[in-house]
Amino acid sequence: MSASGIAPDSQARRALTRLAEWPAIQIVAAGCGSGVGVGLAADPRQILHLHSDREAELCLTRTAIDRLHDALAETGAVGEAADGDWATVLLDNDRDIDLLLSLLSVALKAHAADGDRPLPPCSIQFAAQSATPARRRRRPRFSVRPHRP
Ligand SMILES: [Zn+2]
Repeated sequence: MSASGIAPDSQARRALTRLAEWPAIQIVAAGCGSGVGVGLAADPRQILHLHSDREAELCLTRTAIDRLHDALAETGAVGEAADGDWATVLLDNDRDIDLLLSLLSVALKAHAADGDRPLPPCSIQFAAQSATPARRRRRPRFSVRPHRP
């Protein structure tokens, strides 16, 4: 397995080691180009990205984030990312890894119900798309001169 950019003694590596014991899980290079992507072997969508040694991003879905909002806020380790379907999880200790794996279970259930609908972009893909010419072309509408009588 190529785990690009994840240090051997990091929390992200510990999470990957535990994930490798899960059945039907596939761990590959992240589709966004940063770190490691995790999904089901039978499903090409990567619902978890480990972008760095101590930060994961999980496509938890807007519905699940809204439902779990108070519990997520209490953890102090989870934040919203990208367009609101993704959540970041900071990995500082074993408790955070437990939390990440619990949330991954929630995410897997959430995505099992949505068929093979493509995932929204993670924050890195979102930032890259925001810099595309198509997005930039829309910008001039803000620079239209005010009408002068
Ligand atoms: Zn990503």
